[in-house]
Amino acid sequence: MAMNQLPRVKHPNLVLLGPPGAGKGTQAVRLAQDLGVPQLSTGDIFRNAIARDTPMGRAAKGYMDQGQLVPDPVVIGVVEEALGRPEVSAGFILDGFPRTVPQAEALERILAAQGQSLLRAILLVVPEAAVVERIAGRRTCGSCQATYHVIHAPPKKAGICDRCGGMLIQRSDEMPEAVAARLAVYHRQTEPLVSWYQQRDLLTRVDGMGPPEAVAARLRNAAAL
Ligand code: AMP
Repeated sequence: MAMNQLPRVKHPNLVLLGPPGAGKGTQAVRLAQDLGVPQLSTGDIFRNAIARDTPMGRAAKGYMDQGQLVPDPVVIGVVEEALGRPEVSAGFILDGFPRTVPQAEALERILAAQGQSLLRAILLVVPEAAVVERIAGRRTCGSCQATYHVIHAPPKKAGICDRCGGMLIQRSDEMPEAVAARLAVYHRQTEPLVSWYQQRDLLTRVDGMGPPEAVAARLRNAAAL
């Protein structure tokens, strides 16, 4: 068969949408493993930059601590760079990006320039009361970044990481004031993406409640559509 007769392969280029605390991070990692493609988290990229005290990290930290969005040009630059790497050429799961309409437009542009497009935007649906409870109880290891929940996934010894013995901390953007700010930002700046993707026939809603395994199975189904 000549090359131009081959069916066009649909790369699993996916976006995970949802409010903070919906489980995007955990589920993006699992789904990426299931599909054999890399997961890209803009939040992780910024946290790494902060840990390494780079100029970008210093610029992002103030916004993150207040639960505000890092400005679009910075985030879009980061994602454009990440999507240019060879390891994402067969697909990717984007977690935490896009968070604004200009970011979604930029993603469309970046992919189009590579002759690609988005396969789906999957919205993890979780009621607001549940996301508040999830975030408020979350604790993170200051050394290895493993995450726990004081009620749903507690460490064996309170305040200590099971994996490496490091001290568990509450991330500054998981303090109550920052959580309220992040939810307000989500409603104002990110939720409009739901109708934006719906209009393009790219949106799939997935119930984000219940055991992580059940959510992961629903996501695998949604990604295969
Ligand atoms: P996350 O881990 O995805 O919740 O991101 C943590 C924080 O990083 C957010 O509250 C923002 O301050 C910043 N951030 C991550 N992704 C983006 C994005 N796409 N646009 C703007 N800010 C972002």
